[in-house]
Amino acid sequence: MSPARHWRSYGTDPLPTPAEALAEPFSAFPSWFLRVECDRCGKQRMVNECHVKLAGADAA
Ligand SMILES: [Zn+2]
Repeated sequence: MSPARHWRSYGTDPLPTPAEALAEPFSAFPSWFLRVECDRCGKQRMVNECHVKLAGADAA
């Protein structure tokens, strides 16, 4: 049972607020990229929702 998917990357639905987004699993954002920026050194990483899902499947 996968969590509900909303806020797709296409369409005109209103986007979530940061607080709403943080309360949801990453899988609620199909095909989105998450940009993670380190507060200390400013290093950035791009994480795709698909990659996270595959990584989770490998671990199971
Ligand atoms: Zn850093």
